[in-house]
Amino acid sequence: MISEKLNKLHNDIPENVTLVAVSKTKPIEDLKDAFEAGQRVFGENKVQEMCAKWEHLPKEIEWHFIGHLQRNKVKYLASFVGLIHGVESFRLLKEINKQAKKNDRTIDVLLQFFIANEETKFGLSFEEAKTMLQSDEFKSLDNVCIRGVMGMATFTDEKEQIQREFSGLKKIHQELSTDFFNEQTNFDVISMGMSGDYKIAIEQGSTMIRLGSSIFGKRN
Ligand SMILES: *Cc1c(COP(=O)(O)O)cnc(C)c1O
Repeated sequence: MISEKLNKLHNDIPENVTLVAVSKTKPIEDLKDAFEAGQRVFGENKVQEMCAKWEHLPKEIEWHFIGHLQRNKVKYLASFVGLIHGVESFRLLKEINKQAKKNDRTIDVLLQFFIANEETKFGLSFEEAKTMLQSDEFKSLDNVCIRGVMGMATFTDEKEQIQREFSGLKKIHQELSTDFFNEQTNFDVISMGMSGDYKIAIEQGSTMIRLGSSIFGKRN
């Protein structure tokens, strides 16, 4: 089942789009099935759950943290996390830098932007991001690499609204790319699109989609 769904998805999505298999709440067996079907990138939104799964599964897996990350928990995932999608404050970015340094590595991150018309979704505003990126303190962070942006659209059936929100994120990426990351060729990730809206996200320029239920089935 899981392998069939993955194969079908891989046939549907363009080659330049990375598929993150969002395995939160799912048992290890489901992740093993996906791994055996060739999936290597998994996304989790709870630190403890991600650490437990990392311990039990093959080390080739690239673990993406896609949830709201509390600063006091960064230390638990700093040694192995592949990409942190949800950086939504300067304080969090500084803590990630500190823990990366302790582990003698660089951690890749995405800046999360608030693009939805909902109060419950986290993220930076464009102005906040610019202020941060302009600061000398930001320039001194040597153990984090900002790889791009991430955002979540409003949960709605209004296709045009979702299109508008995703195209807004694409535009933020373009502007930051020009203004701050001109010489950094790997500022190339636009993480947008979930099971319900990934097709729209790809049309709007997504390079990374995060799919849970369309691979593993509904969550409890
Ligand atoms: C749960 C989650 C997803 C996956 O959601 P599905 O609708 O199951 O595809 C993607 N991104 C984030 C940030 C999530 O928390």
